[in-house]
Amino acid sequence: MKIMKFGGTSVGKPERMHQVAQLITRDREEKIVVLSALSGTTNALVAIGYAIAKNDKESAKQQIEKLELHYKEFINGLLKEETYRAKANGIIAEHFEFLQIILKISFNEALNKDILAQGELMSTKLFSVYLEEKGVEHALLPALEFMSIDQNEEPQIASIRVKLRQILQHQAGKKLFITQGYICRNARGEVDNLKRGGSDYTASLIAAAIQASVCEIWTDIDGMHNNDPRVVKKTVAIEQLSFDEAAELAYFGAKILHPASIWPAQQFKIPVRLLNTMEPEAKGTLIVEEAGSKGVKAVAAKDGIIVIRIKSSRMLLAYGFLRKIFEVFEKYKTPIDMITTSEVAVSLSIDNPAAVSDIKRELEPFGEVEVIRDQSIIAIVGNQIVQTREVLSSLFSSLESIPVRMVSYGASAHNISILLPNEYKTQTLQMLNKGLFGLE
Ligand code: ASP
Ligand code: MG
Repeated sequence: MKIMKFGGTSVGKPERMHQVAQLITRDREEKIVVLSALSGTTNALVAIGYAIAKNDKESAKQQIEKLELHYKEFINGLLKEETYRAKANGIIAEHFEFLQIILKISFNEALNKDILAQGELMSTKLFSVYLEEKGVEHALLPALEFMSIDQNEEPQIASIRVKLRQILQHQAGKKLFITQGYICRNARGEVDNLKRGGSDYTASLIAAAIQASVCEIWTDIDGMHNNDPRVVKKTVAIEQLSFDEAAELAYFGAKILHPASIWPAQQFKIPVRLLNTMEPEAKGTLIVEEAGSKGVKAVAAKDGIIVIRIKSSRMLLAYGFLRKIFEVFEKYKTPIDMITTSEVAVSLSIDNPAAVSDIKRELEPFGEVEVIRDQSIIAIVGNQIVQTREVLSSLFSSLESIPVRMVSYGASAHNISILLPNEYKTQTLQMLNKGLFGLE
């Protein structure tokens, strides 16, 4: 059994959905197809929820109507026959009625999650009607019946497996299943989600739960690239990455894959393939245990980084100092990304600005505290790059004119991270493209 996940742009237009149907019926292998909401829908639902939360019902109502119109047009492009169009219109009428009812209820966070779930519910149901019209046998698997998170908002593969197996047993003989990405139930049994971009995570969790042969993530680009295509002119797709390399890249800004989606596949050794719906024959990127080749594979940047620097002569020859500092970050549930130390100073980077002023205040008794905002981390990722001397020399010679503020080297064998002011990010990515990959 394999998993095929299609993102928002892959289902965002009727003709794209037609193509998805072709891609999933190319072979007879049993599969679970995970779909995102049509592109733009989740953003629209977030905006609707926001308007309702602010009690701006008029704006919410207008946005709901605009979205409904979009779906009506979509259905006309998707389906040919009147009976199927009527069926599809009935489905969306139900979901939009639900949104209209929510307008009348007083807002709460659980209700907001219900709003956000409508996108994936509609995309999968509409796709199912299309498959019906085409005469493709399949079954819908309701994600809300098997995808769940615990009280710490963590999905538990074991319980997902039990529930999913039970559902599949009732579908004996079927070979093609369609389900929703992103949505799940929380420990209170309410509708919840796996956070923005979470459909990849759904796919990987299902792949792990059923020990799939492969987890295919279909998007609108032919795999993970060596650099950010929005910033540099020429980038190339990476053929193979190890799970560790892919996790670093996903975490440090390669938007193509949700960072959390690596661990389930890695833990259960399920190969992940990143493929392009627009160019299905392109090789894409394979993510497996082995890195495939040595050397630098890619660079990726993460913005919105804040550096906190603590300078104190009390640190000199003292022990227990770092623990006290870490405890402050722990207290405010703020993860630390990079850390560098000298005998009298320590610099830490974080990406969550929520508790910066509290953290600063609590660190002040330890020494002089400086907060530096608007920084970026650039991660240079590749198998064993830390042991590859040429990497380091070409890295630093490419960075000659850049005011690098922190360097993290050697913590992992396949990542070197540098921190610099955000205004130098574009220039740095361009220079590294040339210096490390020989690309303009
Ligand atoms: N529809 C959700 C989002 O836009 C989940 C996903 O597409 O992965 O975030
Ligand atoms: Mg995505």
